[in-house]
Amino acid sequence: MKKEKIKNLSNQFFQEIQTVQSEDQLFQLEKKYLGRKSEFIGFLKSLKNLAPEERKQFGRLANEIKKEITQKLEEKKKELIEKSFDFEKESLDVTMPGRKKGVGHLNPISIVRYKIEDIFSRMGYEVADGSEIETEFYNFDALNIPAHHPARDMQDTFWLQQKIKNQHPKVKREEERLAMRSQTSAGQVKYMEKHKPPFRIIVPGKCFRNEATDTTHEHTFYQFEALVVGENINVGHLKFTAQEFFSQFFKQKVKIRLRPSYFPFTEPGFEFDITCTVCHGKGCSACQGGGWLELGGAGMVNQNVFEASGYPRNKYQGFAWGFGIERLAMMKYGIDDVRLFHSGDLRFIKQF
Ligand SMILES: [Zn+2]
Repeated sequence: MKKEKIKNLSNQFFQEIQTVQSEDQLFQLEKKYLGRKSEFIGFLKSLKNLAPEERKQFGRLANEIKKEITQKLEEKKKELIEKSFDFEKESLDVTMPGRKKGVGHLNPISIVRYKIEDIFSRMGYEVADGSEIETEFYNFDALNIPAHHPARDMQDTFWLQQKIKNQHPKVKREEERLAMRSQTSAGQVKYMEKHKPPFRIIVPGKCFRNEATDTTHEHTFYQFEALVVGENINVGHLKFTAQEFFSQFFKQKVKIRLRPSYFPFTEPGFEFDITCTVCHGKGCSACQGGGWLELGGAGMVNQNVFEASGYPRNKYQGFAWGFGIERLAMMKYGIDDVRLFHSGDLRFIKQF
């Protein structure tokens, strides 16, 4: 009886497994025959109630059958996995070249800006933030740029249509015009109103000018302003600091040349040159044979600017400059058209 039953169960299993098509069906079948509550396992458990001789006999048979079933399940599992595996599709050709992942690029302006911030931070400078929209007072009056100065008229400055009610005690007008700042110096007085010397800061950021664009002019460009104020600051500090910065930036020893110039917010003011980074001063096409490269304006802070900030006259001295970040990037990477920076041309960006 028992022998028959166990044989029947086994036959039943071998028949059922023929129809199995999926791993899930196989799992159900395994549960049905070898699960804890299955008939077969229940049968095996009942053997312990038999007399020792009978138990021995059936035990061996039952274990053999269990082994067969287990083995068959394993085989079927392997078969199903192989069937589901598409070797054409899944096989790996290790000789194929890898697929490169696209990685974002920093605009060279950002690369240069971070480099500038890095060098000045190590020299103990604070990196300050200005605003891109300034009142007429901060962008012009406070910088000692007189009301009739051509820079104020529509040709050079982007004025906003919106005006605000004046809240600055030093301004006589009732309403203030708002401008897209035309230089980072616009942040100088704002900073000085809130901080007492001594301090040294750089202010990197976007500036805007309403002018025609060409290979060296853009309506939107980046400057970094440096401003150092204390009681004993002189032109020597300006020269040394600039020399130190540019030498680190261009990774070569550069010399500085100052030529007298005029900016309303400096006294004295200078045009600022460094030795050519290509020929080191010998003369080449990059410097048109002169050995020097023009970098921008610099100077000692005009006492009128200190006065506009609320500092007493002649108590402090300071130096300041505003250099173009694009200009530095163009020199560093040999870029010949400033308009490329904002062109959004990926072929340009991807080179950096
Ligand atoms: Zn040169």
